[in-house]
Amino acid sequence: MAKRGVSGVIMRGLRAKDHNLTVLDRQTLAPHFVRIRMSSPTLFGNLDLAPTAWLRFWFPDTADGAREYQRGYTVTDADSATGEFSVNFVLHTPAGPASAWAATVQPGDTVQAMIYGSTKFEVPDELAAGYLLIGDSASMPAIASILEALPAEASVECYLEEHDAADHEIPMPDHPGTTIHWVPRRGPGSLAAAIEARDFTGWYAWVAPEAGSLKALRPRLRNEFGFGKTDLYMQAYWVEGKTMGTQRGVEESAQ
Ligand SMILES: Cc1cc2nc3c(=O)[nH]c(=O)nc-3n(C[C@H](O)[C@H](O)[C@H](O)COP(=O)(O)OP(=O)(O)OC[C@H]3O[C@@H](n4cnc5c(N)ncnc54)[C@H](O)[C@@H]3O)c2cc1C
Repeated sequence: MAKRGVSGVIMRGLRAKDHNLTVLDRQTLAPHFVRIRMSSPTLFGNLDLAPTAWLRFWFPDTADGAREYQRGYTVTDADSATGEFSVNFVLHTPAGPASAWAATVQPGDTVQAMIYGSTKFEVPDELAAGYLLIGDSASMPAIASILEALPAEASVECYLEEHDAADHEIPMPDHPGTTIHWVPRRGPGSLAAAIEARDFTGWYAWVAPEAGSLKALRPRLRNEFGFGKTDLYMQAYWVEGKTMGTQRGVEESAQ
C-alpha cells in the first residue's frame, strides 16, 4: 500500500473516504493543459455538484509509487447519471506528482480521491451588481464553472494571470457579460496592480490565484475596494516554488 503520511491520517480522522476513479480518456486542450475524463461508481452519491466543486486527489510518487500526495482539483462536466466527470490539469514545469500523473496517464488507469472541504459557488436569486473573478490557468476550470452558472445578464470582470503564452489557448465559456483581462506575471504584485479601480459596491469577488499574488491582492480588495466577508471568497490554488500538499501514510491508505 502506498504511504500518505500525516495528511492521510488527518483525512482518515475526518472520516473522508476514498473513491476509486477510472480514467476514460485524455484530451489535449492547449499545449500545457489536458482534460482527463474519469468515472466513479460512488462519487456522485456524496458530492454536491455545485460550480467550483473540487476533490482531494491522491497522486502517486513520480519515482516508484511508494507514496501518495494530496492535491486539489476542480470537477467539471459532471454527469451524475453515468458517474462521469472531467478534470483539467495544467502541465507545469517543474512538475509535481499531480501534473506528472496527468502528463502520462492512460485510459484504464486508476486513482483515488476524497471529498472534503469542497467549496460551492451559488448564484443568488438577486444577482450581485457585478462579479470580479481573479485567477490563472489552475483556477480557470473553477472560473469557467462560475461563468457557466451565471445568467447572461450578469456583469463580470475577469482577471487572469498569464504564466505561459499558451494560457490564452485554454478554452473558456462564451459569457456575453464578461470582459477578460490577461495580466502577464512579472512578480507577485502584477495581478493586484492590474485591477482597475471602480465603485465595487454590491459586487461579489471570487479570487483563486497563486499564493504570492493572493497576498498582494488582499489589501487592495479589502481596504481599497471594500470587499468584506460576505462578498469575497479567496483561496490560494498553488504556491510558487513550493509543493502544494502533503502525503498520506500506509496506516491510512491500508484501511
Ligand atoms: C481547491 C483547488 C482546486 C484546484 N483545481 C485545479 C484544477 O482544476 N486544475 C489545475 O491545474 N490546478 C488546480 N489546482 C491547483 C493544483 O492543486 C496545484 O497547482 C498543485 O500544486 C499541483 O500539484 P503538482 O503535484 O502538479 O505540483 P506541486 O508538487 O504542488 O508543485 C511542484 C512545483 O510546481 C509548481 N506549480 C504548482 N502548480 C503550478 C501551476 N498551476 N503553474 C505553474 N507552476 C505550478 C510549484 O510552485 C512547485 O514549484 C487547484 C487547487 C485548489 C486548492
